[in-house]
Amino acid sequence: MKTNIRIIFIFVCILLCALCALPFTACEKTEDVQSGTSYSIWLDIYEDKIECTQKTTFVNNSEYPLDELIFNVYANAYSLTSPLPCTPQEEADAYPNGVSFGKFELKSAYGDFASCFYDATTSLITVTLSSPLLPTQEIDVDLVYSIVPPNTNLRYGFNDTCLSLTGFYPQLCALRDGEWFYRDFSPIGDPYFSDTANYEVHFNLPEDCEYAASGKCIEQEKNGEAWITATADNIRDFALIISPVLSKTSVTHNGVDISYLGENTEVIEYAKKALDFFSDYFGDYAYDSLALASVPFVAGGMEYGALCVISDELSNTDIESVTAHEIAHQWWYSAVGSNNLTDAWQDEGLAEYSTYLYFVGTDRKEYAAALLNNAYVQYSNFVELGQKVGEPVKGMLAGELDSFASNYHYTNLTYNKAFIMWDYVNMTMSAQTLKDALAYYYKQNAFSVASPDDLYLALDKYKSGTSKLMISWIKNC
Ligand SMILES: [Zn+2]
Repeated sequence: MKTNIRIIFIFVCILLCALCALPFTACEKTEDVQSGTSYSIWLDIYEDKIECTQKTTFVNNSEYPLDELIFNVYANAYSLTSPLPCTPQEEADAYPNGVSFGKFELKSAYGDFASCFYDATTSLITVTLSSPLLPTQEIDVDLVYSIVPPNTNLRYGFNDTCLSLTGFYPQLCALRDGEWFYRDFSPIGDPYFSDTANYEVHFNLPEDCEYAASGKCIEQEKNGEAWITATADNIRDFALIISPVLSKTSVTHNGVDISYLGENTEVIEYAKKALDFFSDYFGDYAYDSLALASVPFVAGGMEYGALCVISDELSNTDIESVTAHEIAHQWWYSAVGSNNLTDAWQDEGLAEYSTYLYFVGTDRKEYAAALLNNAYVQYSNFVELGQKVGEPVKGMLAGELDSFASNYHYTNLTYNKAFIMWDYVNMTMSAQTLKDALAYYYKQNAFSVASPDDLYLALDKYKSGTSKLMISWIKNC
């Protein structure tokens, strides 16, 4: 995600008050598990609601027997009974037409299991198995549900420009050490955490609409209506944006189907450059498609599996930077996952630093230097402000999302401090060594969830002692 700096600054003083009162927790060791999960989802999109049928095939690729499966219903965070899914400071931009609520209703569940229980207070669907699911065994869970998206400019909902279907379906929580890992939905940071999965999503395209979706798309006509099948393997999550007003442009670039929903086709050129640069720098792009959409959004942009949202309110110079940042997340989020509920610095810091590398590597060294300088200035202002109000900044990068007092706090650590940390790491080794280490990290961890230790291992392999430097940045308050 790329946050909106303007919003952050307006509320800095209000938010700093609570800055140091909240505890941090250390990151934990995670394991590499390549998910064997497949989702087949059918969406019947009507004007006022969407009827959904979902078959989830889960393969237990862990080494632990499992007694239950747990799905996170992220869409429930937008319902009347949940706290608002944004910070109070974002509310006016998130809901320009007034606060609006969505609805998620689980209608039925089928499968060879003992019971299925949806708890709207926790947003979790717990499927209790009849007998333990042993390693390598698989199980199907069929869910039938309906959703009513809210009217909002947040990740999930509709506005005058588009319908954003992201985090709309019950998604299996990430499996860590035989336990399903989940937290309450956080309005700060990216509250989604999952293993990669394969998707096949079918949906009817409302008349006179265009769309951008994760995956390769095939269009068919059924009973006079356009139906799309989107297919993607090993993506972190599935996203779909539908618009009655935006244009769609599709191109193929080096074997990747790029589709763009929006009116600024420069975004396609930036996307091609970013795909080329990161593929060369870190390793081949992991997917055969990339969708982008320029739409109203409360932050600068947001990453999903093989799909990037770019705010349609950005200035020209910011558009390229945000596009590069979100595309970098296809390496550091979608392909190489990390626990963004406890170690958001791991993918956000790398996405920021990758954006810097992109500008350095595409002959815009001055702009790259300005990005880096901006991170130093922002972070030093943040620290100085804390000192002024007698509340020294707690600067530990690792921490639960709810340990960050505000977006301002979160952004300065997860983005700016982490970006500066990478600059320091770069100073200790040659650019080529860092490039080799990051390429190794990518290759070793693609389609799994990398722990901080996995990152340290890759860096130390190419320059011993690098992890010590990083840990001093990550753990120091
Ligand atoms: Zn980001």
